[in-house]
Amino acid sequence: MIKHSNGNLVYFTFENFDNTGIVSHCFSTRLGGVSEGVFESMNLHFRGDNPKNVIENYKIICSAIGIDYKNIVFSKQIHNDTIYTVSKEDRGKGLLRESDIDDADGLITNEKEVALATFYADCVPVYFLDPVLKVIAMVHSGWRGTVKQIAAKAVLKMEKDYGSERKNILAGIGPSIKKCCFEVEYPVVAEFEKNINFSSEFIFKDNEKKGKYKIDLQGIIQETLISVGILRRNIENANICTKCNPELFFSHRYMGDERGSLAGIISLNNQ
Ligand SMILES: [Zn+2]
Repeated sequence: MIKHSNGNLVYFTFENFDNTGIVSHCFSTRLGGVSEGVFESMNLHFRGDNPKNVIENYKIICSAIGIDYKNIVFSKQIHNDTIYTVSKEDRGKGLLRESDIDDADGLITNEKEVALATFYADCVPVYFLDPVLKVIAMVHSGWRGTVKQIAAKAVLKMEKDYGSERKNILAGIGPSIKKCCFEVEYPVVAEFEKNINFSSEFIFKDNEKKGKYKIDLQGIIQETLISVGILRRNIENANICTKCNPELFFSHRYMGDERGSLAGIISLNNQ
């Protein structure tokens, strides 16, 4: 990913997405917003924060990446594998009015003037772009979503609903908790073993802490994408751990509930 600094504002973009010239997108950091206290400063979710500040934060980051903040659409994320098809009628849902998209962790569209947004504080953001048929999608893949292979499901939906060819689809795996910090106990490991046959390659027993394991979520997501036909060269992995960089990112594992939220945002350009 490429790190952009614009005054106090810092955000990241995927080079492979930027190179197409057909989308505006970013993964936010906690820098460059107006929120205060534990939400300092670029908090992009309402939970607990002053709503005026959250909307101002959207105005700041959307303007920096060339998106109209009124086009933002977000859902309530529940760690499931549902992917909701967004249209222009959904604009403003979540941000400027109540969202009735209450069970989706993934968003997809081929419409312009619509900006998909999903939230993070360690979970893995996965972005998709079919530059040929101009389709975008984005999924929130925490460990539960990764077990349910929501990223692979986004690829299948792009193919089924829009006719995207898998070899054309670009994917981006954003900043999130990496195996250095994603410590779990056996019940989580068991879910992976039960549902993903190659997962053992990405699960590591902690030799210093009894009963603890480390999981490489990004590695599992990348393998599931390759298994459904995404080309390795079309996957860009940020390779940045949110918990290792608390000055730059909100991290649930580092901060607990007293924190703001990061966002992934993507929109097809009007051209
Ligand atoms: Zn880490």
